[in-house]
Amino acid sequence: MPMTEKLSNPQKTIEIIKKYNFNFQKKFGQNFLIDAHVLQKIIAGAGVTKEDMVVEIGPGIGTMTQYLAESAGTVVAVEIDKNLLPILEETLADYDNVTVINEDILKLDIQKLVDERNGGKPIKVVANLPYYITTPIIMGLFESHVPLENMTVMVQKEVAARMRSGPGTKDYGALSLAVQYYADPYVVANVPCNCFMPRPNVDSAVIRLTKHEKPPVYVEDETLMFKMIRAAFNQRRKTLVNALNNSPEIQADKELIQTVLIQAGLLPTVRGEALTLDQFADIANRLCKIS
Ligand code: SAM
Repeated sequence: MPMTEKLSNPQKTIEIIKKYNFNFQKKFGQNFLIDAHVLQKIIAGAGVTKEDMVVEIGPGIGTMTQYLAESAGTVVAVEIDKNLLPILEETLADYDNVTVINEDILKLDIQKLVDERNGGKPIKVVANLPYYITTPIIMGLFESHVPLENMTVMVQKEVAARMRSGPGTKDYGALSLAVQYYADPYVVANVPCNCFMPRPNVDSAVIRLTKHEKPPVYVEDETLMFKMIRAAFNQRRKTLVNALNNSPEIQADKELIQTVLIQAGLLPTVRGEALTLDQFADIANRLCKIS
């Protein structure tokens, strides 16, 4: 058991930051957690066990990494800011199952990491994400098909709402459909802004995305379906026919699109925001067949 006191309180965080003369970098989305209850909820929500290899994105000063190290088999923490490395060396000194990699998570070959360190078995991702790259990180992990059991991540509260919402709601959009195609979203905790140092301007939520073993809908051409989804929500107030017809990414004329919608049992005046994932998949499959 580690001898050092945990970082998860404001006093300890301030102490370490002063000791190393660390300056928070806004450009890296640095808001460190200072609440032990929230940390415990994240670890429990992620379901981390000693069998797991966990990849943590952005360990900061190592606050959550300490908790992860105690619950997981191994932890690989990927941090972009080299100024945090000497701090992590001190705060994680007691844990021999943690490796820190100084790299941009968007550039790291995660498949290689999983192959080399976890024999290709699925990993868990746990992170208090840097908010400026929330979507590229999450979509990158899904689209690259890295072996992944779940990811439990802190995001802006409104982003968590978008991931969970369905047709006919204001939050429903391309992110909802993309996330739900790959995973089952579950909100583990709502987290007010005073649980961070410095305080962000927005409230946050921890969301667990459990990867589907296989997608809930059958799609012949995933790329085409996601092009359609993007086109539909880029021009949200337009009918789906017009949005698809205006999209440079989709090669199908207006009449063909109308025919496909009618075949799918939809009105030609329908908007994309009214359609379920099932219906997008159905239209993409029909379009794929006849175009
Ligand atoms: N995990 C810590 C905590 O909860 O207190 C810090 C979370 S802070 C919101 C986000 C962390 O991600 C920062 O440490 C930041 O430097 C790091 N970060 C930002 N962009 C990154 C990137 N592209 N790759 C890896 N880490 C990044």
